Amino acid sequence: MNKAAGSHFWDVDGNRYVDYLGAYGPIITGHAHPHVTRAIQEAAANGTLYGTPTELEITLAKMLKSAIPSMDKVRFVNSGTEAVMTTIRVARAYTKRNKIIKFAGCYHGHSDLVLVAAGSGPSTLGIPDSAGIPTSIAHEVITVPFNDAGALQAALNKWGDDVAAVMVEPIVGNFGMVMPKEGFLEDLCRLARQYGALVIYDEVITAFRLHYGSAQTFNGLANHEAIQPDLTALGKIIGGGLPIGAYGGSKEVMEQVAPLGPAYQAGTMAGNPASISAGIACLEVLREEGVYPEMERLAVKLTNGLADSASRYGIPLTINRIAAAFSTHFCDHPVTNYEEAQDTDSDLFAAFFRAMLNRGVNLAPSKYEAWFLTTAHTDEDIDFTLEAAEASFREISG
Ligand code: PLP
Repeated sequence: MNKAAGSHFWDVDGNRYVDYLGAYGPIITGHAHPHVTRAIQEAAANGTLYGTPTELEITLAKMLKSAIPSMDKVRFVNSGTEAVMTTIRVARAYTKRNKIIKFAGCYHGHSDLVLVAAGSGPSTLGIPDSAGIPTSIAHEVITVPFNDAGALQAALNKWGDDVAAVMVEPIVGNFGMVMPKEGFLEDLCRLARQYGALVIYDEVITAFRLHYGSAQTFNGLANHEAIQPDLTALGKIIGGGLPIGAYGGSKEVMEQVAPLGPAYQAGTMAGNPASISAGIACLEVLREEGVYPEMERLAVKLTNGLADSASRYGIPLTINRIAAAFSTHFCDHPVTNYEEAQDTDSDLFAAFFRAMLNRGVNLAPSKYEAWFLTTAHTDEDIDFTLEAAEASFREISG
């Protein structure tokens, strides 16, 4: 690809594609949104990096804190990977314990600890553990099935005294879009605290994707008070398409971070004015009235159309839609955990992906990744996509 604007991009041969990849999540206002582009241009003209704090960081931190109240204090880093990696360090510093518990199929970036039985990229390639990770590190990680509080309880029974944190994508975005079952996050938070471990939410995908806020404040989940984490990791959307990450939590826990506390974290590029300005501009677009309902309206139209079209050709398709993000699983059973997401037809997905690409629609090239609507998608895009899907389902059913 060599050019993108709004809901489309163009390849080097000049072919146009409707884009549902959204760069794996950050692009929610469409490509090259004028308000975001202007903010980046102004930031560039003012100097892209100072090595000192700026007021912009305070502005964005306040925007995050007001949308996600559990983030009492916020630090900026350069990627979701860094954000997650640092929350683990802070949790270990705070609890003076080593192990973490995570959930099968959740992807938390590419730092060593979380690439143990990870999902997303690694699972697509069928190699759950990356090379280059010492077993001594892998031994610090316990992986249990998502949506299974009993398995979490069993892991905590066994290793609870040494568990620093239970880390989760509270709404999963990395083996499809998967909601926590009723009571799962409540159980997770209660059990973690019972054993003296912190709760870390990886909201790198979910923050500002489903509404102006994050999963922990999403009205699709009940009982918000009972599901608040100690630490949250962010990235993607909060940088408006430029590199960013952020993490935060209660004052007490965040005061572990140097210089106030003993846990070191720094970054030459962290908080750079270009990324922060793009992030502020992106959130300004998102907080306008009606933005999320309109994306959801288009997502409903699209998923209804896909389901109808697939069934016309006898193709089993389970669609998990949460607000304006959804995943398509070629199977006839529900997908509520990683095992069920794996137990779907990879060849059919691959054939569908290629058929759609050939017809000018770009999806994520993995059966585990989501389709993302943006504020730039239109009814015309959806109609075009549904026509492509009808022809693609026909092609792959034959
Ligand atoms: N956490 C989640 C939930 C993610 O989906 C990702 C990336 O896809 C990451 C962390 C890592 O973020 P980054 O790619 O910015 O390092």
